[in-house]
Amino acid sequence: MSKNQELQSRKVAAIARGMGNMYSAYVSHALNAELWDVEGNRYIDFGTGIAVCNTGHSHPKIVAAVQAQVAKFSHTCVMVNPYEQAVELAEKLNQRMPGTSPKKTIFVSTGAEAVENAIKIARAHTGRRGTIAFTGGFHGRTNLTMALTGKTTPYKHLFGPFAGDIYHAPFPMTYHGISVDDAMHGIETLFKVAIEARDVAAIIVEPVQGEGGFYAAPVEFLQRLRTLCDETGIVLIIDEIQSGFGRTGTFFNSERAGIEADLMTMAKGIAGGYPLSAVVGKAEIMDAPLPGGLGGTYGGSPVGCAAALAVLDVIEAENLVQRANEIGARFKTRIEAMAKRHPGVIGDIRINGAMMAIELVHNDDAHRPNTELTQKIIGQAQAHGLIVLSCGYYSNVIRFLPPLTISDELIDEGFDKFDAIMATVLS
Ligand code: PMP
Repeated sequence: MSKNQELQSRKVAAIARGMGNMYSAYVSHALNAELWDVEGNRYIDFGTGIAVCNTGHSHPKIVAAVQAQVAKFSHTCVMVNPYEQAVELAEKLNQRMPGTSPKKTIFVSTGAEAVENAIKIARAHTGRRGTIAFTGGFHGRTNLTMALTGKTTPYKHLFGPFAGDIYHAPFPMTYHGISVDDAMHGIETLFKVAIEARDVAAIIVEPVQGEGGFYAAPVEFLQRLRTLCDETGIVLIIDEIQSGFGRTGTFFNSERAGIEADLMTMAKGIAGGYPLSAVVGKAEIMDAPLPGGLGGTYGGSPVGCAAALAVLDVIEAENLVQRANEIGARFKTRIEAMAKRHPGVIGDIRINGAMMAIELVHNDDAHRPNTELTQKIIGQAQAHGLIVLSCGYYSNVIRFLPPLTISDELIDEGFDKFDAIMATVLS
């Protein structure tokens, strides 16, 4: 039995199956866009731990910042003895969030926790009970965020009952024939049949759906949501957990719509792999909960804050926002060439900076998802030395999320591997 196989059988015996793993390549070490397993096999990483290591694995500046912080202190709790690192990071995030209103921040540890807290803040601010989310959306695995998530298996099946007063409207997807009008009409219908607008605390939307399949919300949709929220007093929460920190070729994806969210949730790319998340938003809304109502033991860990400050420096110093667009352009050329070689298989190509995906279908038919092919590709990737992830409403989307620090050479080498995988699974 190989070392990877041995670890996988120990893992299956020791870790519950609910915490599944896509690959049985057990990591020994990783650097920038490459990782190595315990058997010495090398992989090109087009997954970055699900859009977390935007600044690459073990970036020397981030490693140095973390080491320096750990040597000083690793925990006191912001809610007991705070420290400058958290204040400085909050100031920088307040500045970074689009829009001119004064902003404030809170820190927590995971994406789901950020979303939970954003809903709490919206409820405290409005005194209302309801939340509207979207079909295919993903917001986490805690009880409240499961309820917000718009996909049943594996996220909701077996886990109810869920928090009440959460409703789903259709997310606009041009490729699947759902227009912006359809989506807005869905919300209007909810107001008639399920909950009045004046009882709704928040609308939460991903500007590019992540787990849902990398569908970008049209600019017009985000703008119409902004107008609707302005007219009804509903808090607009933009979940940038997967799409933020340069990933899509703007610092936050929703910048392309020129709107100011009321609250924004941030995690993943914020700290390059250290567990840190944040809610950033308009100060008057953020201050609605009473002192002690928000936070947690580890929220705003000094190690996470030190990493996040270094991440912000690296994004700026290495021009990673611009680099995301170059990566997107390079993948686009390669994907389009591949699509020509395999007609009818790639139904849609979605390039949002370096948040890129292909949707796999049968016979060019958007309504016939090719889930089996997606599984075969994932099944072949490890043997070819490549890490890619799947996603999508019908689990028929392959997503590419390389670090923004990846070189052109490694993109090409990685995509050569992907070409070879496609040729194998389609032969
Ligand atoms: N929101 C979005 C948009 C996400 O992509 C994710 C994670 N995939 C979450 C929330 C939840 O984050 P976490 O897994 O850190 O709880």
